[in-house]
Amino acid sequence: MYMRCCIRARGVGGGGRRQILQQGLLKVISDGHDCGHDLLKVAAGNVRHCGHHAVSELKENSTSQETVQDPRAWIQPTGHDTGIMVYNSLCRRKVPLILPNKSFASWYQCGPTVYDHAHLGHACCYVKFDIIRRIMEDFFNIDLVMVMGITDIDDKIISKARELNMEFTHVAQTFANEFKRDMGRLRVQPPTVYTRVTNYMPQIISFVQKIVDRGYAYPTENGSVYFDVKKYGDRYGKLVYQSDADLAQFREVDKEKRGFRDFALWKAVKPGEPWWTSPWGKGRGRPGWHIECSTMASAIFGDQLDIHTGGIDLMFPHHENEIAQCEAHHCVPQWANYFLHAGHLHKTSDKDKMSKSLKNTITIREFLEKYTANQFRIFCMMTRYRSVVEYCDTMMNEAVSVQHTLTSFLNNADAYIRGQLECQAIDEALLMEKLSETKDKFRRAISDDFDTRAALEAILQLVRVTNKQLRSVEVDNPVRSPGVIAAIQAYVDRVLQLLGVEYPGRKKMSVSTVDSKAQMNDVLDSLVKFRSTVRHYALLKGPDAQPKYGQPQTTASTTAGEGEVGHVKLQRKEREPLMKACDEIRTELVWAGIQIQDRGRKSSWQVLEDQSIEGKQHSLSDPVSTAAENFNFFLNCLFCGNR
Ligand SMILES: [Zn+2]
Repeated sequence: MYMRCCIRARGVGGGGRRQILQQGLLKVISDGHDCGHDLLKVAAGNVRHCGHHAVSELKENSTSQETVQDPRAWIQPTGHDTGIMVYNSLCRRKVPLILPNKSFASWYQCGPTVYDHAHLGHACCYVKFDIIRRIMEDFFNIDLVMVMGITDIDDKIISKARELNMEFTHVAQTFANEFKRDMGRLRVQPPTVYTRVTNYMPQIISFVQKIVDRGYAYPTENGSVYFDVKKYGDRYGKLVYQSDADLAQFREVDKEKRGFRDFALWKAVKPGEPWWTSPWGKGRGRPGWHIECSTMASAIFGDQLDIHTGGIDLMFPHHENEIAQCEAHHCVPQWANYFLHAGHLHKTSDKDKMSKSLKNTITIREFLEKYTANQFRIFCMMTRYRSVVEYCDTMMNEAVSVQHTLTSFLNNADAYIRGQLECQAIDEALLMEKLSETKDKFRRAISDDFDTRAALEAILQLVRVTNKQLRSVEVDNPVRSPGVIAAIQAYVDRVLQLLGVEYPGRKKMSVSTVDSKAQMNDVLDSLVKFRSTVRHYALLKGPDAQPKYGQPQTTASTTAGEGEVGHVKLQRKEREPLMKACDEIRTELVWAGIQIQDRGRKSSWQVLEDQSIEGKQHSLSDPVSTAAENFNFFLNCLFCGNR
């Protein structure tokens, strides 16, 4: 029973409402709701908020103290407040993310229908939710159990199997495997459990039967089963409320259905299609799309789910129907507490979202020919996850530039800490203050509905300020501040890793790789230092490299020209092979995944991203071990004379 909140109208403001709340008589949520109304629940218990449409009805029909039923209103769970505010599609506003079990969350994510190559639209959705998952796990220490359902039986899969003249199971298996590999390439962490529809047929059938038994679904003579939306009543429409009048134009003629809004839980077999035995009609059929997710999520998590996610296009009818099925089946007022929806990816040239049916897709493979997984992840972070994302060269160029800024900062900081980069004295106080300010901004941003755009901007501001201090300048006996630079570098490195942006050579290492990594660093430091000395000698730079007058000269030197100029020219010519060797070793090391950068009198090195290495032969490998393996190969060649 709910009472319309007209306390404000009767002269009790926010303070009064809070007082009532403290007394435990009433609980109220009053801020930030789209419709501008409050709704109270009488007596203790769950807090409820008005659904927008329920309030629209209220406006017309109720008086100030009238009580109303609000079956579509979101129920705020009780339990552990994570400190994160999330935009919940169930109430269309930001609310605290509260978990009944402290530090544990159940999460169901709709997976792909596997009938074709995954495209960038899919990638964008899964990368965005991967970032959110990493934030929840690694920043807020929430243990997540994520289930992803894969639809491996569907009209599109059947049609593809006909087209290719193969079994539908083969089509589904092929594209499911490819999807997992593509996600791996984009560094999307696999869910805790992948579930496949065809492995859940007995559970789906009993799920449907229970809804029939409860009176919310009916089988037809043919053997189909439909959900009875009218019978389910006002509870339908929690995510997207649409009245009969709204839907009148979509009314389709289907004699099997009792109401035009009813949807299939089970579809009777059609000629030439795969089928499973069932208790209804002619006893053969296959599941409807929505029931699959409801059943698989319930099979793992039971009658309550903390978080449900998917693309915005799944909100209606898919998620709406999932909710109705689960709540009818489990007899609960609220099955999933939070629905998070990711915005679509559009190509700027198209008005429509990227989708296979519109034939305007770019596959993940095509994309990764041109760009890296890091660049795509940064591209996804540049907008909030709920926003529509415009995909175009300009946006990708921006992502590439951001990635370059971050990489060069990490490399400059490395070089500075190792003493391979000389700068003017660093303003330590300024940088420490900026670091502390960035930590606050970052936390605030990711707590505010996972605002990666603001979080990234905070990191970039810190990087820009630090980069200014790290400008290479040749100074004698410079004052050095490696501590503060190392602190900033460690923080930037950690938050980038947390968001899934990984740099070769910086990745968290297993114990077994730590020793070899440290050894590789030592060898490379020595090699680069040696090359740097030789190079400066070859370039006639530095005190040891200058020609010594009064020294005996070769015959060639006397014939090359008279005086100092001629002598320098001659020296350069003599040292040319050394310069050539320095260039050669730099090229060889690029092949081994190592980039040497000459910085004035000194040189530094860095591990290249795998895609930067020509040939892309290592794109599936771990960049750290790839670089180490290549480097080992290179060292072997160098010392065994096999080159
Ligand atoms: Zn689903």
